[in-house]
Amino acid sequence: MIDLRSDTVTLPTPAMREAMAGAPLGDDVYGDDPTVNALEARTAELLGKEAAVFVPTGTMSNQIGVRAHTEPGDLVLIDESAHIVRSESGAPAALSGVTLKPLPGRSGVFTAADVDDAIEPEHPFNPIHLESPPRLLCVENTHNGGGGTVWPLAQVEEVSAAARRHGLATHLDGARLWHATAATGVPEADYAAPFDTVNVCFSKGLGAPVGSALAGSLELVARARRFKQQFGGGFRQAGILAAAALHALEHHRGALSADIANARALARGIARIDGLEVDPDRVQSNLVRFRVTAMPAGAFALRCHAGGVHLLPQGETGVRAVTHRDISAPDVERALDIMRRVLRPACRG
Ligand SMILES: *Cc1c(COP(=O)(O)O)cnc(C)c1O
Repeated sequence: MIDLRSDTVTLPTPAMREAMAGAPLGDDVYGDDPTVNALEARTAELLGKEAAVFVPTGTMSNQIGVRAHTEPGDLVLIDESAHIVRSESGAPAALSGVTLKPLPGRSGVFTAADVDDAIEPEHPFNPIHLESPPRLLCVENTHNGGGGTVWPLAQVEEVSAAARRHGLATHLDGARLWHATAATGVPEADYAAPFDTVNVCFSKGLGAPVGSALAGSLELVARARRFKQQFGGGFRQAGILAAAALHALEHHRGALSADIANARALARGIARIDGLEVDPDRVQSNLVRFRVTAMPAGAFALRCHAGGVHLLPQGETGVRAVTHRDISAPDVERALDIMRRVLRPACRG
C-alpha cells in the first residue's frame, strides 16, 4: 500500500529505534529526564527561543500555547481554515474558554489588513467592555488546510507587526515549519522570530512516532508547563520518545526537500490525468490538494485504495495526498499509474 494519507504514517527506522532503546531516562514530571531536557534545549536553540517544553501531540502544544496567552472570554484571531479551528475538536472553547475570530486567509495566508479589519477601533461612543478582548493572533506555517502553503517571510513579519500594534500576543502553529524551511531555505528561527510561542511537531514528516514541542520565553514556557500538566500531558520516562525526536532532528530534517520534490512530481502527474484537476504552482511543500471531476472524491479514494494507494477524500470533490520519508520517487509513479487505471473506465463512459 502506498500510503499518502499523511506524513504522520511514517514508521521509526531501525536507527531511530536503537536511539530510543539506548536513551538515558528519568521522570520528566520531576524535570529529570535527560533526553527530554536535551530535546527541549535543542528545539529552543533551533527556533531561537529561550526554552521549549516537550508534549505528546501538536494539538496539546497549540492548546497550552493558546491557554498560556489568554483568559476565558478572550478573542483569538486566526485563519478560518487553521488546524486549531478545524481539527482540534473545539479545544480552544473547551479548554481555554476563548472565542475564535476567523480571518479570511487565501490558502491559509492572510494580510496585516485582515488583522486590522478584525479589531474594532476604539471610539468614545462604543463602550470598550462590550467586546471580547482581542488577545492573541495565530499563524499556521506551512498551512495544512491551505494545501501546504508556505508563508512569505515578509508577510509573516507584517501580520505579526500588526498584531503587536494592537497589543496582541502571537502564536505560530509550525507543525510543519520544517517543510517551510526545506522549501525556501529560510531558517526555522527566522520564521519563528516574530512569534511569542511556536509549536513544532516531530511526528509530521520528520518520522518520529510521537511528540511535539512549544517554544518561547522562559516565562511563557513555565506558564505553558502548568497547562501541560492540567491538560494531562505530564508523561514520565518520555525520554524514550524524545530520543526519537532528537534522532529525527539530527538525521531526517535535511531530507525533507526530497518529499517536496516528490509532491511536485505527484502534482505534475495529476495535472496530466483526465478527470483530475490540480494547480501544480500551489504545491509549495509536501501536501497536494487536488479535485476529482470524473467521479465523487469518496468513490475515487475507495477505488484507489483497492488498487493500492491510500488517499484522503475531502468534501465532495477534494482529495489530499501527502508525501513523506516512506514514499520514494518510484512510489509516486506507481501511485499515478493506479490513479490513471481507476479513472480510465469512468472517462471512457
Ligand atoms: C497535525 C497538525 C497539528 C496537530 O498535531 P497532532 O500531533 O496530530 O495533535 C497541529 N497543527 C497543524 C498545522 C497540523 O498539521
